[in-house]
Amino acid sequence: MALDPFEPLLDQARAHAAEYLRRLPDRHVGALAGRDEMLSALRAPLPQQGEEGGAVLDLLAAQAERGTSACNSSRYFGFVIGGAYPVALAADWLVSTWDQNAGIYVISPLVSVVEEIAADWLLDLFDLPRESGVGFVTGCQMAHFTCLAAARHAVLHHAGWDVEAEGLCGAPRVNLVVSAESHITIDVAMRYLGLGTRSLHRIEADAQGRMRIDRLRERMASLDGPTIICAQAGNVNTGAFDPLREIAAVADEYGAWLHVDSAFGLWARASGRHGALADGIELADSWATDAHKWLNVPYDCGIAIVRQREVHRAAMTSTAAYLIQSQGVERDAVDWVPDFSRRARGVPVYATLRTLGRDGVEGLVDRCCARARQMADLLACEDGIRILNDVVLNQVLVRFDDDDDITRQVIVGVQREGTCWLGGTVWHGMAAMRISVSNWATSEDDAEASAAAIVRVFRTLRGGRHV
Ligand SMILES: *Cc1c(COP(=O)(O)O)cnc(C)c1O
Repeated sequence: MALDPFEPLLDQARAHAAEYLRRLPDRHVGALAGRDEMLSALRAPLPQQGEEGGAVLDLLAAQAERGTSACNSSRYFGFVIGGAYPVALAADWLVSTWDQNAGIYVISPLVSVVEEIAADWLLDLFDLPRESGVGFVTGCQMAHFTCLAAARHAVLHHAGWDVEAEGLCGAPRVNLVVSAESHITIDVAMRYLGLGTRSLHRIEADAQGRMRIDRLRERMASLDGPTIICAQAGNVNTGAFDPLREIAAVADEYGAWLHVDSAFGLWARASGRHGALADGIELADSWATDAHKWLNVPYDCGIAIVRQREVHRAAMTSTAAYLIQSQGVERDAVDWVPDFSRRARGVPVYATLRTLGRDGVEGLVDRCCARARQMADLLACEDGIRILNDVVLNQVLVRFDDDDDITRQVIVGVQREGTCWLGGTVWHGMAAMRISVSNWATSEDDAEASAAAIVRVFRTLRGGRHV
């Protein structure tokens, strides 16, 4: 086989990748360049005659350090962003190399089987009903879409309405019950599904961001007809879990569908120490989570899980005369996801789970939580710094001098300083710094150096004010 067109370019890409990874631990964690600088480096008229591929790779790679954030750095604590575990990155390279359209079995028995096995492993790891349907999607957003499409199908079917055939015009109204603290992607999924957001019933949350069960009971008593409840395992700010067992009992009492946004929280189930947070989660009807967050596979990979696999399939499946779909036990991905043609996202999941094993995933989760705790403890020692949440998982909320302005200035100062990167939020009307520890490589030293950098920036700001 002539490797000619490929080999030089792949060697070059590999060298650039190695250099990027080598510099990752020491580089400024945030992006240093903005749109203007990137445009001036990269914009040109679309060439009439193409350029040499190697030169194009060099051009892109040369901008990578200033134009990217080091999201996969062990000191990146923004949003909820996982790193890329080494074998996950390597498996992802294979996925691109194989260039499989992973939509149907007939194109790629390997990918179909790998995804079938990865799906089983995940159900096992999360201890969810083993007969559930599983789909590998782009992220938790599309996992919500997939799960809530199944929910829509089921609750309307129960009300005597075939939503796939009839659409929503004239359908019974579906009650949507969500936490006041639900993630915005729940609203977006409702919009995509034609369910709308105006009539969302938002249930008050407690001080940690957990849905209040008393308020849920009150609201449910006032509702009639098909109902979907969305609970949350892992609040994006505090990491808190809704009282899932109690919510499941309410859902059961009213015959409502229970969906759980567990983008990162579902991974607590892999940990003996943290699993109890998600007690009762197995009683839900559907679960949305991410692999690109806590499992640390490269972007993008989310996972949609639906207890009743026939309902999952009914909401997603597509058929056409030219498609050679499997009739038997073989898995066609198009039955479980909104995509038709798609990337073999399950392959890095398989590789990572097999490499880490149960112990490895548990270690990853426990380590991140310990580092979050460590940073919270270190910061809390400093006069003027307050931790706003109970640090139950991997998320920490920090406030400085009990002042919005100071807190925001510290965040910007830390981003500029470059030892680590983190962002801000508004929690109960107060500005707060968010720390999310979601990277396999974050060490005690990383946590210590980052906390020290945050304290340094805070002291400098304070010193400046007192002069
Ligand atoms: C990140 C996140 C989402 C959205 O996930 P994507 O993978 O970005 O689509 C939804 N819910 C929660 C709680 C999250 O943390």
